[in-house]
Amino acid sequence: MALLNILNYPDSRLYKKAKPVAVVDERIRQLVRDLAETMYAAPGIGLAATQVDVHERVVVIDVSDTRDQLQVLINPELLWSSEDKKVFEEGCLSVPGIYDKVERPDRVKMRALNERGESFELNAEGLLAVCIQHEMDHLLGKIFVEYLSPLKQTRIKTKMKKLMKAM
Ligand code: ZN
Repeated sequence: MALLNILNYPDSRLYKKAKPVAVVDERIRQLVRDLAETMYAAPGIGLAATQVDVHERVVVIDVSDTRDQLQVLINPELLWSSEDKKVFEEGCLSVPGIYDKVERPDRVKMRALNERGESFELNAEGLLAVCIQHEMDHLLGKIFVEYLSPLKQTRIKTKMKKLMKAM
C-alpha cells in the first residue's frame, strides 16, 4: 500500500475528466487500496482518483464515525436525484482549510461496480448523498468551490497559492 500525493486546487490536473474503468483487475484494486489508505490518513471522508492524478472513474468513501465502512464506487452513474435540496458545509482534501455551503439534491440513487467488478445500486441521503455527488463531480473535473460566487473563488485561489508557497 502507498500514500498518494493529493493535488491541490487550483491545479489544472483537477479539471481533467476521468475515463471509465475498462476492467476491474488487480491494478484497479491496488488503486482502491491506495486511495483508501490516503483518504483515512488525510483524514477525509471521500477521495476520487482524479485528486491523486489518476484519471479513471474510481471513488472511495467512508462517512461512518467508526471509519470502517469503506465504500468503493467504480464507474459510478447517477440514476436519480431528488427534487428537494439541502445545504451542507463542504470541504475537500484538495482545498485544505476551506469549508463552505453548497446546495445539492438531498437524496440520490446510483449504480456502480465494487472492487470485485460486481454491479450494485445504492440509495443515499444526507452526508453520504453529499459525499457521492462531491466525489462524482471530481471525476468530471469539477471542484466544489465552483458552486461558490466568483468573488469567493478568487479569494480561495489566492489563499491556496499562498499556502502552496509556504509549503
Ligand atoms: Zn473533494
